Amino acid sequence: MKKVVGFGYHKTNAVYMRRFKNGKWESGKLVKEDQFSISVMAPALHYGQQCFEGLKAYLRKDGKVNLFRISDNARRFQSSCERLLMPQLPVEDFIEGVKATVLENKDFLPPYGTEGTLYIRPLMIGVGPKLGLGAADEFLFIVIVSPVGAYIGDPKPIKVVTSEYDRAAPFGTGDVKVGGNYAGSVFALEIAKKEGFQDVLFLDPKTHTKIEEVGAANFYGITFDNKYLTPKSPSILNSITNRALKTLAKDKLGLEVIEGDIYIDKMEHIKEAAACGTALLITPIGSITHLGKTFTFTDHEKIGPYSQQLKELLTGIQFGSIADPYGWITTIN
Ligand SMILES: *Cc1c(COP(=O)(O)O)cnc(C)c1O
Repeated sequence: MKKVVGFGYHKTNAVYMRRFKNGKWESGKLVKEDQFSISVMAPALHYGQQCFEGLKAYLRKDGKVNLFRISDNARRFQSSCERLLMPQLPVEDFIEGVKATVLENKDFLPPYGTEGTLYIRPLMIGVGPKLGLGAADEFLFIVIVSPVGAYIGDPKPIKVVTSEYDRAAPFGTGDVKVGGNYAGSVFALEIAKKEGFQDVLFLDPKTHTKIEEVGAANFYGITFDNKYLTPKSPSILNSITNRALKTLAKDKLGLEVIEGDIYIDKMEHIKEAAACGTALLITPIGSITHLGKTFTFTDHEKIGPYSQQLKELLTGIQFGSIADPYGWITTIN
């Protein structure tokens, strides 16, 4: 595979499909076609019974392939399924489906040294005909992969703007990875982009005074007294990237990690800020605009020194050039 640019879909050799029917999982299979048919009355189409995951496969220098914290994705997938009344796929079965799909599409892994990866998108949908409101009685677990380059591509810090819209309700489904959260919030992203910003900053849905998430990513800031500060709230999706960064910030950079409120009108103590997640890795944030006023971080011309170090440590572990003392990596070949 050649170098890949951007975050677009490229059809690969195969997609993994596994059906849950009559109360049990049938065996999974790899299929060539990236299209399939379902009932017009599938609850996934009408009532949003859908959840997904996002992770990546990394081609190492020695030609083997690394997966990063895949059991954490498997467990988060289970919580999303539970919340949407879908069957919980056993962790081992999730891992097996992902491994099979990656190995079948190994040719599509971008070369080592290009920072490209194979993006992996597992999902589950409620299928089978059902008109009344309620859970489906048949489900499909699907794994799709696509080679990707950098998500945003621009290494320069992005400008973000707050939204009057929320991505989730205070005790809604913000803490699980479901398509419905996106259906209602891409509108906010569209507005932000039209106004010339690269992403939207969501505030806490209850009071609109605290930072929650940056589009489809978590938020963190580094304070002038060298603390890694990230918000905590029941409507934030617990990012696996953020979890890894908290560990690396503490262990490798000696930063104190604080999870708590970050008020939108009190950011003077933060010198560098970033969005973090699997798709966009660590994307520095240069400024935040809220109600017409713009707050610019000290490190707004280029990625801040702590974020740069975190990025090197994280990608080093992911691609296998830095040893992984945490058991985060699963190597397959
Ligand atoms: C997937 C996602 C993230 C990032 O989580 P990772 O596990 O780091 O990929 C953050 N916020 C939202 C809303 C997400 O859907």
